[in-house]
Amino acid sequence: MSVTQVAAYAAPAAKAPLERVTVPRRPVGEHDVLIDIKYAGICHSDIHQARDGWGEGIFPMVPGHEIAGVVAEVGPGVTKFAVGDRVGVGCFVDSCRECEYCLRGQEQYCVQGMTGTYNALDKNGEPTYGGYSTHVVVDENYTVRIPEGLALDVAAPLLCAGITLYSPLKHWGAGPGKKVAIVGLGGLGHMGVKIAHALGAEVTVLSQSLRKKEDGLRLGASHYYATNDRATFEELAGTFDLIVSTVSAPLGLDSYLALLKVDGALVNVGAPEEPVELNLFSVIGGRKTLAGSMIGGIAETQEMLDFCAEHGLGSEIELIAADRINEAYERVLASDVRYRFVIDTSTI
Ligand code: NAP
Ligand code: ZN
Repeated sequence: MSVTQVAAYAAPAAKAPLERVTVPRRPVGEHDVLIDIKYAGICHSDIHQARDGWGEGIFPMVPGHEIAGVVAEVGPGVTKFAVGDRVGVGCFVDSCRECEYCLRGQEQYCVQGMTGTYNALDKNGEPTYGGYSTHVVVDENYTVRIPEGLALDVAAPLLCAGITLYSPLKHWGAGPGKKVAIVGLGGLGHMGVKIAHALGAEVTVLSQSLRKKEDGLRLGASHYYATNDRATFEELAGTFDLIVSTVSAPLGLDSYLALLKVDGALVNVGAPEEPVELNLFSVIGGRKTLAGSMIGGIAETQEMLDFCAEHGLGSEIELIAADRINEAYERVLASDVRYRFVIDTSTI
């Protein structure tokens, strides 16, 4: 079989608006599945990369690493999926498969570097193109199953936003008896609230203002505070076992570290384009941990999808046609999203 051209939306150059293009998809190989993409979420990481905020972007760039669709064709060696299966693809589509992290199911920390779903080069040196597209060809080992109980549109954002919060919440023990704060109620943050609540933790939202308070409480938070009010930091000093920050902009970490109990952890998943400031006395006193976390492995992503299906946790989405992607980007940058834009890829 030969390379197929498929429709997609791409940023032709850094900071240029996205426009409709065609891109090549490789022939369906021995272990590949061809996915008919139904929905693709818009992650803030798409915007950082399409605008070259993290540097060294590969253009033209087709973003999209929150992919939900249906298997349309399988390679002869495929054993995990059949035509018609509901599947998802997240932030990476390959890794070395041999290092200690790949063998442990932590492919996102592969020592060779995982192959990103877009803005990366595959093993043949060809650029990868992401989910703002009608079809994608992916190795079955980097494809996950979307359980029947989850609609594909609200499942799409789980492939990045869901797993990025599920993994650290599990790793740092969010559960009954634990006080967990989620900083930033956006795409990642709102999944953090839902998942931490479902895990049994007592959840607090720390948002810039009280504008989204009703939503936060409905999603599963017990408390909601505005970080633009200094009194919040006085009232909550020494309160939390775990804080997960999803903020996309540089954030002064010292005032958040002060909200932790002794031995508490602040886990940062936000990926701002500039460095942040830190006074190390903020972690010395109270034996505190400042950590980071990046998405999750394939097996853990499947576990997260099964957990979300069991607990009825989809993303809160605003479904858009592809010609509204550029407008959606502006709204995400203005924190004006409730809580994930999802592209209906049939409009591409
Ligand atoms: P998002 O939907 O834009 O949410 C980010 C939230 O951060 C906003 O809704 C806002 O919440 C808060 N915020 C924004 N600017 C702020 C500022 N200047 N000060 C304080 N708070 C601010 O973005 P997202 O898709 O959730 O992604 C969030 C970040 O995580 C991005 O940097 C993204 O690249 C990164 N990310 C990391 C991983 C990983 O594996 N570690 C995975 C995916 C994404 P409020 O309105 O509630 O204040
Ligand atoms: Zn993402």
